[in-house]
Amino acid sequence: MAENIFTSEDLKKMQSWDFEHKIHVTQIRILEFYGRMDGKVTVSFSGGKDSTVLLDLARRCFPDTKALYVDTGLEFPEVRNFALSLPNVIKLTPEMRFDEVIKEYGWCYPSKDVANAVFYARQGKRWAINYFKGLNTDGSRSWYKEAYYKKWAFLLDSDFKISAKCCDVMKENPLKFYAQETKTKPITGTLTSESSRRKQAWLKTGCNSFKKGKEISKPLSFWSEQDILRYLRDFKIPYASVYGDIVEDKKGKLKTTGERRTGCTFCPIGCHLDKVNTFQRLEYSRPARHRYIINDLGLGDLLDFVGVDYGRKYP
Ligand code: SF4
Repeated sequence: MAENIFTSEDLKKMQSWDFEHKIHVTQIRILEFYGRMDGKVTVSFSGGKDSTVLLDLARRCFPDTKALYVDTGLEFPEVRNFALSLPNVIKLTPEMRFDEVIKEYGWCYPSKDVANAVFYARQGKRWAINYFKGLNTDGSRSWYKEAYYKKWAFLLDSDFKISAKCCDVMKENPLKFYAQETKTKPITGTLTSESSRRKQAWLKTGCNSFKKGKEISKPLSFWSEQDILRYLRDFKIPYASVYGDIVEDKKGKLKTTGERRTGCTFCPIGCHLDKVNTFQRLEYSRPARHRYIINDLGLGDLLDFVGVDYGRKYP
């Protein structure tokens, strides 16, 4: 396993930089990556707010930068329309439909890492079985596995198909295939504050990774959601209408008046953590979609099993 070249303290320090400095460093990372890749780069563009900021920053450096949008059919229509309305955006399509992926590989739930471990534990892989016992791959005790995996061990004996394949098939493979065909390298708008998996990856490589065959740039890694909202507001960058307006709350914190997160409207990842989850909102905002996922695709059965409310049940 690769050693870390940065520490959590390094990341914290970068996250505490002032806004202008963050913009400056992000653009330096983009320039550096573009130069090392001889300009053969693309921006992975979901139409969400993070990648909207990234695309703007990249095109301020290199106006002809191509953006890749994967048309999963799972995005909010407003996000899709916005993404495809921008110039020089290439639309990619997954090889399978979402319902086919669910049927074949099952749900990606409760998180990508746990779903992946469920999939491999059921195949008898020792490392994955260990995780659900609160152990590391080598059998030593791990507080992290204890806290994040052990409580989901009950999923192993359930009848539900569970795996992390959905993201691979629906989002990552189309981008990977494009990169292989065109010999281009991706610039992505991921933030380390969003998941420990992203933070761990950053600690190993920093924002730009130049490892042969795995070259990737993640120049927004040290940004916060507040930085993203501030950038969109201060520079008056157009963004998908589903977010609504960007306003300050009573404590001066920025927030959106519409959706906070966009991404896949059908995604159950993390829905047990939300006060009001995606599906409870979907019931009112897009009832036909709600019925389709809860009933027709059968997510309601899984959420019943786990004990997560999703709004209305259908006969
Ligand atoms: S975000 Fe969720 S629904 Fe979307 S591709 Fe990944 S696992 Fe599937």
